[in-house]
Amino acid sequence: MSHKETVSIVGLGQMGAALARAYIHAGHRVTVWNRSHSKAEPFQGQANVAATPAQACSESDLTIISLSNYEASDQVFRTPVVAEAAKGRTLVQLTSGTPGDARSGAAWASGLGIRYLDGCILAYPSYIGGEQTPVFYSGPRDHYERHESTLRVIGGATSHVGEPIGAAAALDCALLGSYYGATLAFLHGAAICASENFSLDAFFERFQSIVPLTSITADMCKKMLATGDFKGTDCTLDIHTNAVQHIVRLSQENNVDRRLPELILSYFNRALQLGHGADEIAAVFNAIQDSSRG
Ligand code: NAP
Repeated sequence: MSHKETVSIVGLGQMGAALARAYIHAGHRVTVWNRSHSKAEPFQGQANVAATPAQACSESDLTIISLSNYEASDQVFRTPVVAEAAKGRTLVQLTSGTPGDARSGAAWASGLGIRYLDGCILAYPSYIGGEQTPVFYSGPRDHYERHESTLRVIGGATSHVGEPIGAAAALDCALLGSYYGATLAFLHGAAICASENFSLDAFFERFQSIVPLTSITADMCKKMLATGDFKGTDCTLDIHTNAVQHIVRLSQENNVDRRLPELILSYFNRALQLGHGADEIAAVFNAIQDSSRG
């Protein structure tokens, strides 16, 4: 007899379908529900296909939600019949959102006797089930520990990042923001190369050399943000600003969209105005905080 928890998955988009496949592969008894029945059809014979979200919740102690956004999740879950079915069970919200969304979901659940965890998957669906796949959870630690071995099926690098329910979403937004910023920056770099007929293959090959530099800079920023002391001996913000000015100028000369380097330059200039010209690049943090206040 299997001691593995039964698991329900609500939402069979690209991510939800990958989650369902991972649990089926790991030998769990799985129930699935999706608004459009066509996405549930491939699971016939491998999983129990629920007719309603309430039925999906009532089939398992643990229900995982993977929908487009919180609006969709609220439409599906915030009904008396679903709340009744989920009572005394655990909902794990893997729909992406803000810390405020997570707090709203937890407040709704706590009033109804539903255990609630908010989580974020930092990976594409094809990496679900991987040993290194990072998944963050926040909410009551005892709820997390109750289901930890089941949640680890999604990704080996699963961790509980804090009791405040918004912690996972805060971390997810911070890391995704870094990811999108970096992606836009290397696509801009590719556009610069294309404008000079420099091989994109060669660019992407050399791009790997910037990855350790970014990592070293992040470590340096971590130390400097902890102390508030931005003095160093690597590269002044004045010199970094010169480099960004070249990138703005080249973008302009070659008709490449220059909004991204101009934006970077605007933050650097703000940090210079705050007197950080002789400091390391980490001092730009003060310009970001300052901008958000003003
Ligand atoms: P997706 O392929 O677009 O699937 C969206 C799912 O939401 C579908 O099951 C869709 O149902 C359902 N849905 C949308 N509106 C609905 C509503 N009003 N009522 C009921 N169901 C509704 O998206 P995905 O890539 O699976 O993403 C799902 C979640 O995972 C998102 O929050 C996303 O941010 C997160 N995520 C995704 C990735 C990724 O790489 N894909 C990575 C990390 C996190 P229908 O089939 O009926 O339209």
